[in-house]
Amino acid sequence: MPTLAERYAAAYDQVQVATQKAKRPAGSVKLLAVSKTKPIADVEAVAALGQVDFGENYAQEAVEKAQKLAHLGLQWHFIGPIQSNKTRPLAEHMSWIHTIERDKIARRLSDQRPQGIEPLNVCIQVNASSESQKAGVSIAQISELAALIDELPNLKLRGLMAIVENTTDQAKLGQQFDLMAQQYEWLKSHYLSVDTLSMGMTQDLAQAIQHGSTMVRVGTAIFGARQPKTSSEQ
Ligand SMILES: *Cc1c(COP(=O)(O)O)cnc(C)c1O
Repeated sequence: MPTLAERYAAAYDQVQVATQKAKRPAGSVKLLAVSKTKPIADVEAVAALGQVDFGENYAQEAVEKAQKLAHLGLQWHFIGPIQSNKTRPLAEHMSWIHTIERDKIARRLSDQRPQGIEPLNVCIQVNASSESQKAGVSIAQISELAALIDELPNLKLRGLMAIVENTTDQAKLGQQFDLMAQQYEWLKSHYLSVDTLSMGMTQDLAQAIQHGSTMVRVGTAIFGARQPKTSSEQ
């Protein structure tokens, strides 16, 4: 069994190799270490290897880890669904939110972001596969939500995020990644603050990078398999 340090090194390497293969500049793709459901000690171990950005899906767990590890100066990214009664702790403790899909949530996060700290970095989640049960706005809704976020004083619009279809059909994946890349280019041309296309996970990070991802969200490859969480734990 590889150690956590070995798995992290391999995942980090995979990102560098895929970036090079895609003929993109070194360092143009950020690795987000998704530590959801994993113990604090695992986060500390990976942070000790130089990793700064960590992703979490469950509000309570995210805030708890951010508070306990505040002394490490890590950047916490929230990448899970947001309930409106959980926006305050997220606004107080996260550096990034990748999963904005509603006006109301964006407004609350901006209102609740404490004064005196940097604006909350946000991405709009897009339903790139148009699956009915999937979170995210439609392509047609991106511009309106972006305009709203751009007006909110305590949010900084950084880009788009997608969870593409869970499929091994490479053509389908490619289409969805390309669609996101097109929308990202459009958004970037309209807003100077936009520099992030959050797409790609353990299974599809190389294709995502091939298609223009600037941030891959990697859990399993770094921390190993997860036990599924029950909804009451969220
Ligand atoms: C869990 C999760 C990931 C990481 O998935 P892996 O397949 O374990 O790499 C990435 N993005 C989101 C939104 C997730 O919920």
